[in-house]
Amino acid sequence: MGGVRASDARAMLDALEALTPGTRLANGAFEVTSTRRVMPYDVVAVELEHVKTGAKHLHVGADDSNNSFNVAFRTTPRDSTGVAHVLEHTVLCGSEKYPVRDPFFNMLRRSLSTFMNAMTASDFTCYPFSTMNRVDYKNLLDVYLDAAFFPKIAEIDFSQEGHRFEFAKMEDPTSDLIYKGIVFNEMKGAMGSQSARYGRALGEHLFPTSTYHWNSGGDPINIPDLTYEQLRNFHAVHYHPSNSKFYTYGDFPLEETLQQIEDSALSRFDKFDVSKLVVEDEKRFIAPKRVEVTVPADAVVADKNKQSIISLAWLMINQIKEPVSLDNFALGVASDLLTNGPQSYFYEALLEPRLGSAFASGTGYNGSRRETSFAVGLKDVAESDVNKVEKIIEEVLERIAREGFPRERVEAVMHQIELDSAVVTTQFGLYTGFGAYSTWVHDGDALNALRTPELAAKLNSALDADPQYWQKLIKKWFLDNKHRLTITARTDEEYDKKLDEAEKKKLKQIEKMLSDEEKQKIVANALLLKDNQDKKEDVSVLPTLVVSEAVEKDIKRWGSKHTKIADGVPLQYDEQPTNGVVYFTTHFDLDGLPERLVPYLDLFTDFMDQLGTEKMKFKDLAEEIKLRTGGFSVGSVFRPSADGTKTQQLSLSISGHALERNVDAMFDILTDLTESVKWRGEEERLKLLLARRATALGSSVGQQGMTYARALAGSQINAASAFGNETGGMPHVGLVSRLSKENATEEVENALSEIAAYALRPERVQRCRLACQKESFNAAERSFAQYLKSIKPVAVAPSDKDTVETKLKSFKPELKKVFVSVTGQTNYCSAALPALPYTHPDAPALFLLAQALSAGYLHREIREKGGAYGGGCASDPMNALFTFFSYRDPNTTETLDTFAKSIDWATTEGNITKKELEEAQLRAFKTLDAPLAPSARGQSSFVSGVTEAERQRFRDGLLCASPEDLRRAAARHLAGVEPAIAIVGSAEKAPMGDAKWINLDAQGAPRVA
Ligand SMILES: [Zn+2]
Repeated sequence: MGGVRASDARAMLDALEALTPGTRLANGAFEVTSTRRVMPYDVVAVELEHVKTGAKHLHVGADDSNNSFNVAFRTTPRDSTGVAHVLEHTVLCGSEKYPVRDPFFNMLRRSLSTFMNAMTASDFTCYPFSTMNRVDYKNLLDVYLDAAFFPKIAEIDFSQEGHRFEFAKMEDPTSDLIYKGIVFNEMKGAMGSQSARYGRALGEHLFPTSTYHWNSGGDPINIPDLTYEQLRNFHAVHYHPSNSKFYTYGDFPLEETLQQIEDSALSRFDKFDVSKLVVEDEKRFIAPKRVEVTVPADAVVADKNKQSIISLAWLMINQIKEPVSLDNFALGVASDLLTNGPQSYFYEALLEPRLGSAFASGTGYNGSRRETSFAVGLKDVAESDVNKVEKIIEEVLERIAREGFPRERVEAVMHQIELDSAVVTTQFGLYTGFGAYSTWVHDGDALNALRTPELAAKLNSALDADPQYWQKLIKKWFLDNKHRLTITARTDEEYDKKLDEAEKKKLKQIEKMLSDEEKQKIVANALLLKDNQDKKEDVSVLPTLVVSEAVEKDIKRWGSKHTKIADGVPLQYDEQPTNGVVYFTTHFDLDGLPERLVPYLDLFTDFMDQLGTEKMKFKDLAEEIKLRTGGFSVGSVFRPSADGTKTQQLSLSISGHALERNVDAMFDILTDLTESVKWRGEEERLKLLLARRATALGSSVGQQGMTYARALAGSQINAASAFGNETGGMPHVGLVSRLSKENATEEVENALSEIAAYALRPERVQRCRLACQKESFNAAERSFAQYLKSIKPVAVAPSDKDTVETKLKSFKPELKKVFVSVTGQTNYCSAALPALPYTHPDAPALFLLAQALSAGYLHREIREKGGAYGGGCASDPMNALFTFFSYRDPNTTETLDTFAKSIDWATTEGNITKKELEEAQLRAFKTLDAPLAPSARGQSSFVSGVTEAERQRFRDGLLCASPEDLRRAAARHLAGVEPAIAIVGSAEKAPMGDAKWINLDAQGAPRVA
């Protein structure tokens, strides 16, 4: 975490380490219980207890300016009404000191936070944030503490966030009665997929008696049962300091933070008995159990005869009774060997013979609960194969219980653990806190997430000492473990429809029982809520950052050096404190690639390291990559035209990273990949990869509907977006689904071989980048150069009249309205408009306008009033594209109207004031100045080619914009412009038969009524 103020940081860490147990801090309010320096992270962990209430505090001091905070309460629901989740939302709707409607969302606009959220896990609820600005930290801490400990929890907020009745036409009690509510709709979206339903069923049956049996987020069937009184009671019992765990991280002074926590919250409480909130141990099975459940079918069903799911699951280690357990760590390593990658045991035994298309959701080791568990299973299995799958799983485990794992396989996993510990990330602090909670929230170990290196060393010694180590471990926790569950699921294509019908029926029955008076009350409440949402509020009581004080005038300059490598290829060298890890990227020119090969590009980038090479079978290759590197990432990237005058350029990007000692090995593997990937001759492997990809894409359409909708809308506006849509949007889903169904391996082999022959040639190497420490540079550069010089073309490059370049140049916008029907009950809406390129003088104002519209208008209309989980808009100056979007939205065309109305709002005098502008600027700089990992510093200019002078001009434009500039930008560039429209949504909402719309199915094929 090497910062610039290394000596200050050293002194700070030493002072923390010197604190002895029993030391009182913050005028005696807190007592230190332990301190520990943790290597190789070089952080100091200080555990404290609040004397009066017993609240626990973990501070991790680090030489890292991205300071974080988190407070968690153990929350242990005993039903699936989502009480913990609704409470998490409702406490953010105003508090004693900050009685405004929405302090959380208002603070999002008044801060430079690098993270702000609230989350409900299965056994705790937490409120984390992070920021690099000290004033901001104080502001956010104050608002978070007041929200958590002194919330209003008003009934009207419960009805907005949780659930309420409304009439379909708000003021017309003769229209249909419906449910509304943010959590209600959020959970409809969250539970709307097969994987979510199946994962839940697995937890429900593996934990039949404890809190994990219930859906802490809330099941849409049960959420309407939650009452306001239950919500208030749940807060009173759970949100008490005696049931809280505070976490702080970074380089800000500890004592100042402790004092603020004491003054703003804890001093007002006494001790409270929380022993009733303890999560009991799960009652262990006396014999293995079997259950059968029903789950929804995927949006795209590949094979109607292969629709079953089966998993085996075991309940394992009690992390509270066995803290810092080596078995626990070793089971994590075993899980990696069993399920991670094509060389893993279960991949080989279950996926390679194609008994199913992918692992079932929930597969792997789960340490996030009080007691750990492991599950392995398959989806898309033929019913007649279900028993066979179970048998094979048992046989694999029995084999390992006899033979153990080969040591070199274990070493590859240990190498990944070593590399992960060395890689410097931007949210190390936040994730260390999340990692602590799974055990700490039950008063177990708080340093959970920091023990990896220590346990890895212990495991190595245990393996040296005992050749039977794995055999015993597998026998104990798998074969001899009676708490074992076999769960099988059938899928039902009508699952969501049935839920929907049941909900409608229930509502009809309720409606029949309502008196006129009650109906009028529902109308009155709806109007009251609407009034409340429309009310202009004075939020000046909330603290805020001021742009002129908090935002740097100058862009960050990373000091990238520009040289040449391998006889003249441009090399960008970023000297950064990467902690002994070396990062490289190289771009190959794709402009002349025949256009007909474009649809296959994504398969090429995805399969490049998965087919094996002449030297190594795909499994050995995967093993070698794992043993020597942090993996390769291959993709296609656009270099935008900053001023919008030139055609954008397409390149193939290959990047990777490795520990310094493995750099030569990394480039050796890359040489092998560049020269001799088996694009042909691995037919079975290719079939498997296609089937797996088809399945993954099939379920992604419903789950990532917003991404697909935005890509579809954008594709009608500009060439780069059209390419993005073709290689990764709906057309790609359709293509892969067809290729897999037809087993069209020859077609794929031909296309991928041609792309390789075109792209992987010395003359295509466009530019390179290295990011590492000074002492690693020379060796890394030598190795990189050697790789570049060794590139030999594999075949004659294909050439065509129609290329990527000619296609980009001939692109013509075409405005359509497209509706993609998927299963599930919610919608994703998008509208796209042409916008301005990066260097246009109005581009900064348009960028700010998108922030102001999202926060000032769309959030209120789409989320608060419309009941969607979210919505907003964005201006992308790199693609000159402006997009509107909503997600997990109960509405379709209404939301499209809202998009249009927002432009009227923006152009109307008086709506965008100095305050809206200031908030928009903070939001913009939050994005632009987000912390970057050392490896990423300088990367965006490498990819985009945008110069520092251009970046500075854009920043100046953001800093000096006026409210009038935003209004003018809206009027000049957006008002009256016809948008392109795309919706990915519930089949029931599809505008079938309406000639203005194009209707597609979930594979992008035309849908007919
Ligand atoms: Zn939520």
